Amino acid sequence: MLIRILMILGILALLFWVALWFLRRSLVKWLKHASAQANPQAGGQSTNKLNNSETLVKCAYCSTFIPQNRAMVVKDEYYCCEEHTTLSQ
Ligand SMILES: [Zn+2]
Repeated sequence: MLIRILMILGILALLFWVALWFLRRSLVKWLKHASAQANPQAGGQSTNKLNNSETLVKCAYCSTFIPQNRAMVVKDEYYCCEEHTTLSQ
């Protein structure tokens, strides 16, 4: 009996987690879409960013991997923070 209840709870938790994941994903997509519409002159750039948002890039100074959309780009090299852009010069 207890095992059945635990199984049902587990399945419910899994369903809840999947629902949350989908909700979060669609919300993020919607927010990105909304911000792209609010800023039409950067439209082409933001779709490019949208495609690369999951890509990880390596910091040229400390070799830490960071999401490309959060990385700082200086002379075609990626950096994890502003400090490392100045330290590597
Ligand atoms: Zn770094």
